[in-house]
Amino acid sequence: MSLDAALKRRIAEDGPIPLETFMAEAVDAYYARGAAFGREGDFVTAPEVCQVFGEIIGLWAAVVWQSMGCPAPVRLVELGPGRGVLMADALRAAAKVPPFLAAIDLHLVERSPVLRQAQKAALGERPCRWHGDLSQIPDGPAIVIANEFFDALPIRQVERTPDGWRRRDVGLDDAGAFVFVAGPQMPPPDFADAPVGTIVEDSPACAAVAEALGRRLATQGGVALVFDYGYETSAPGDTLQAVARHTFAPPLERPGEVDLTAHVDFARLRTAAEAAGARVLGPVGQGRFLTLLGAEQRARALTKVATPEQAVRISSGVHRLIHPAEMGTLFKTTTIFHPGLPPPPGFEGFA
Ligand code: SAH
Repeated sequence: MSLDAALKRRIAEDGPIPLETFMAEAVDAYYARGAAFGREGDFVTAPEVCQVFGEIIGLWAAVVWQSMGCPAPVRLVELGPGRGVLMADALRAAAKVPPFLAAIDLHLVERSPVLRQAQKAALGERPCRWHGDLSQIPDGPAIVIANEFFDALPIRQVERTPDGWRRRDVGLDDAGAFVFVAGPQMPPPDFADAPVGTIVEDSPACAAVAEALGRRLATQGGVALVFDYGYETSAPGDTLQAVARHTFAPPLERPGEVDLTAHVDFARLRTAAEAAGARVLGPVGQGRFLTLLGAEQRARALTKVATPEQAVRISSGVHRLIHPAEMGTLFKTTTIFHPGLPPPPGFEGFA
């Protein structure tokens, strides 16, 4: 039975379900299919736009490793690696620092069996272990990368109605289609004075991962680098969105067949990681970060040895990654790290 049919049957029998449940099941089913990425898929992510993204991250990780005192082994961890493109590019660049490459013990956090296979193929001979979540990774100093991972984690929404704050649930309309319905009364969230009709989101799943990362890095050493689209300061508003075939789609239609995400609340990530003892810097615009770390110079070096078609692809790719009207500002990066370490490259001078 499709997820669509299974959820409809469940709601018809037992009543509406929280949006958080709907989203968690839709996202799991969606990535289990593994057909999300690339031009023929639903969306294109930064590592899929241009190899420079992963290469810069690989070199960034090598410098961070040195600042940590060159621990061997070091756990190199990626959360939600998609098709494995970022990690393959990062490892190729990291090979410029052979002692770092030799120290890497690679761990990928991925639940989709189909994507695990794709990651294995992208990484070739490189030994690697897969886990369902962060807690299963062996202890020790770590460098953790996450690109567009947090936006896929489920959110909750509450809405201010004339009779108070109510959870937003997913039910069925008379025609049997999914609709938002007002669920149980909830305690007032932040922004409790907002007018009737206001929606306030939060993501316990995002906060839990940020907290677990913060605790791990603060106690065992290490640095995380998180990229995502989102907002710097917590704010009310509905950011749930669905994308299919590179265009927006209605978020409650075809669960498991469209990419369902929400904007990431970077302020909340920070509070959770700091409460667990880690230091946090950023978010910084992705464009600014990549430019500081030499993305344009790297693109120029690559185009010198590329065919004319490759050269066009590389320069337009880097432009797309860093330009404010493209992915340079909406996408942001933040770092979570052991408070005894210096600010990682790209975050010097940031609060
Ligand atoms: N980082 C990749 C893919 C982003 S898509 C890129 O930039 O191309 C989101 C990724 O997170 C997918 O690999 C998806 O399977 C994984 N994912 C989503 N929710 C997850 C969860 N709860 N636990 C582990 N992996 C998850």
